[in-house]
Amino acid sequence: MIAPLRLRLDSAALVANWRVLDAMSGRAACGAAIKADGYGLGAAGIGRRLADAGCRDFLVATWAEAEALRDLALPLAVLHGVRAEDAAVAMSGIARPVLNTPAQIARWREVGGGACDVMVDTGMNRLGVAPEDVRSGLLDGLAIDTLMSHLACADEDKAMNARQRDAFAALAGRTGARRMSLANSSGIALGADYAFDLTRPGIALYGGRQREGHEAIAQVVTPEAQVLQRRRVPAGGTVGYNATWRAPADTEVAILNLGYADGYFRGFSGKGVARAGDAALPVLGRVSMDLVAIGVDAAPELAEGDWVALDYDLPAASAASGMSQYELITGLGARFDRVWTR
Ligand SMILES: *Cc1c(COP(=O)(O)O)cnc(C)c1O
Repeated sequence: MIAPLRLRLDSAALVANWRVLDAMSGRAACGAAIKADGYGLGAAGIGRRLADAGCRDFLVATWAEAEALRDLALPLAVLHGVRAEDAAVAMSGIARPVLNTPAQIARWREVGGGACDVMVDTGMNRLGVAPEDVRSGLLDGLAIDTLMSHLACADEDKAMNARQRDAFAALAGRTGARRMSLANSSGIALGADYAFDLTRPGIALYGGRQREGHEAIAQVVTPEAQVLQRRRVPAGGTVGYNATWRAPADTEVAILNLGYADGYFRGFSGKGVARAGDAALPVLGRVSMDLVAIGVDAAPELAEGDWVALDYDLPAASAASGMSQYELITGLGARFDRVWTR
């Protein structure tokens, strides 16, 4: 069955973005965060393409996400570590856990787990063990592949970036870890001394650009929706819930099969733009749960059953909607067909 809405996903742009980030990572390897179903775009489709391009490190959040990718046999790490409930699946070898707490580390030793990664907290106070605990031997004897930490504000020029980098660098040689890894997408653009041995981009692979240095990152995802109805709204008529848009003159309007339940958020009300060929077609009034109205005076031929593409360059769409670039892609819902092109 063909859905009335689809995500057009650009394979060439995805692979090109990974190559840009890999080159920016210098001698460090470049991995890929594919948690949250590949940031909403489909983890399997992304994992397969990036593995073919040469990516050898993939990150998911949970063991359910790892299991969903089992058939691809990707080299995976599970960021949220090993809860008691996870011990069996973790021991099955489908992924390395990223151990975050002394209890997780004790659990991993108890079950006789093998290679693992470890997250160290260097100031974000989210997940990870304390550097003091690393110094006093918490990790001794563990078979650590990658020692990680995570930057809190890599998308901004803040002194905290260098503080976190220095705190992390001070742990070099304190563990038996084969590699060290600090930088997310924005961290890669902070410079060579943030790359360590492995970088972990997510959002930039998918077209997110949050700081200087990411100019070469290309758009990957474009939502497209089908026209369900075309109508003429007479001057003075209103469109949508709460009648927030009133026609200043007779206006041609098309109703699209797309809404906030699909992740096309209400912030696009009166702000979003759709395209039919070269014509720019503004969103009129409120975005509904399953429907959006656009003005189509500029597209006289556009008819019921035709498709339009929504403007979704992430920095611009974020500015228009007030949602973060992350929310704009991870929110894209299950009702889209995901169609890879090129
Ligand atoms: C999500 C995540 C990343 C990727 O971050 P982006 O900002 O999307 O590049 C890297 N490392 C960890 C630990 C993460 O949770």
